[in-house]
Amino acid sequence: SDETSDEPSGESLPTGVERHTFDDRERLATQGPPVYGEPTDGDWRVWDAGRSKLGAMLELGMDTGLVGDETVLYLGAASGTTVSHVADFAGPTYAVEFAPRPVRDLVGVAEDRENLFPLLKDARKPETYAHVVEADVDVLVQDVATRGQAKVAADNAAFLREDGRLLAAIKARSEDVTADPADVFDEVVAELEATYEILETQRLDRFHDDHLGVVARPK
Ligand code: SAM
Repeated sequence: SDETSDEPSGESLPTGVERHTFDDRERLATQGPPVYGEPTDGDWRVWDAGRSKLGAMLELGMDTGLVGDETVLYLGAASGTTVSHVADFAGPTYAVEFAPRPVRDLVGVAEDRENLFPLLKDARKPETYAHVVEADVDVLVQDVATRGQAKVAADNAAFLREDGRLLAAIKARSEDVTADPADVFDEVVAELEATYEILETQRLDRFHDDHLGVVARPK
């Protein structure tokens, strides 16, 4: 099995992420201006694990190592659903997305968040944003849903500080639509192991079909 942990590893939410009750349900929430019509409670807003792989990783109790206030490089920001929550609890948050259309929305999200920096860049070409992103980021979050997800993570590993964390969501179907997801995950994890030490993996299927959450640190 490619699962190094079947059990939630206990509550380890970063400072700035809390569980709040919305409609009688305990949900993850962060403090910040609403972005995608999510329910709010005062200045807290729901972080919907069904719309966010990183949210699902936290909801499932994965030990992400996040404590709050870290410097983050986020690859595959799309229109900013997840990265808006990250910017709510993290420090400087660099958000890379190569599709111009979602970046327009992302820029709007960043207008309300002075620590969020949208970058219209290709995550396969880290040299194009290396001059903007500060060195030694604490956390590399990856949700690019493209073929070659392990290579993207490897190519961006140099941004991470020693003992930093890669928090990746691997989408099986982006690598191979027909293969058994478990086989795809084995291959991607094996490829990641050239650059990273894998700390934990967990299937995110409860929230995201055929996705694997990975926590790793650079070798
Ligand atoms: N992370 C987002 C969230 O949770 O709100 C959703 C991301 S969506 C699953 C994947 C995104 O990765 C798409 O917006 C796609 O355009 C972007 N993407 C794919 N390949 C990329 C690349 N090479 N460089 C930058 N962005 C890429």
